[in-house]
Amino acid sequence: MNYQPILDRIHGALKPVIGQGKVATYIPELASVSPDHFGMAVVSLDGTVASVGDADVPFSIQSISKLFALTLAFQREGDSLWARVGREPSGNPFNSLVQLERESGIPRNPFINAGALVVTDILVSRNTNAEIATANFLGRLCGRSNVTYDPRVAQSERQTSSRNAAMAHFMKSFGNLNNKVGEVLDAYCRTCAISMSATDLARAVAFLANRGTNPWSGEKVLDASSAKRMSALMLTCGTYDAAGDFAYRVGLPAKSGVGGGIVAILPGECGICVWSPALEETGNSYAGSLALEMFTTLTGKSIF
Ligand code: GLN
Repeated sequence: MNYQPILDRIHGALKPVIGQGKVATYIPELASVSPDHFGMAVVSLDGTVASVGDADVPFSIQSISKLFALTLAFQREGDSLWARVGREPSGNPFNSLVQLERESGIPRNPFINAGALVVTDILVSRNTNAEIATANFLGRLCGRSNVTYDPRVAQSERQTSSRNAAMAHFMKSFGNLNNKVGEVLDAYCRTCAISMSATDLARAVAFLANRGTNPWSGEKVLDASSAKRMSALMLTCGTYDAAGDFAYRVGLPAKSGVGGGIVAILPGECGICVWSPALEETGNSYAGSLALEMFTTLTGKSIF
């Protein structure tokens, strides 16, 4: 399918609303990003790229990194990972602390901050440099050698990371963090600060649309059953507390980040990424969510 005319139509239709919503400001460095960016890319499994707007402008991937860090940890740890983190939607904001005490320091899922801190802890135990391991993994997935994090964004988040620090200390008190809190937070903030374009992210996520095999290199990243499970987690937990509404409106497995990016997959067809930094209340990109909703409406394709 030629997705270019569809992306052109989406871009045209959304021009009046791009910039509506609020850029994340709790990470000071993200506050300086213009809300007026909009880029979208669709990479089909045969390698065809359709893109519009700022699709090749790098942005802070933030929580989109949680999907790739999880994949990497799951590759190495397998099902034993689920002893330390759950697989249920949280029904709470991504940075909430409330469930942790009631649930004995086991985060609800790997895509909320607490869950991603546990995943980062696993990667810190297994790598000399967890953030570089995730960045290199992303590089292999999209065929680039230069994927890296923005040190200014990382430092800006690290200096204001009291809330994530609270979660990490709390989980440590329950024995669910093996490394030093400071080390885990350093690696977590750097991983969130990885910078990539929508086109590269659409390429990177395509292995999940291709039953776990990287379509560009042929590398088997996950077996088909595990890839299906990662996609199920994206659908139920990937867009924070709005996952139900997102599934209703969009109908694709997706993972968002407070930098305004959202990756999604159409199984058997393509990897997708949209970026527009102004967010709706729940922390998902406002124009990005609308763009994905239009995409499934106009193509008539979704997982349902
Ligand atoms: N780095 C951000 C944080 O920890 C990631 C949150 C997000 O993208 N939802 O708060």
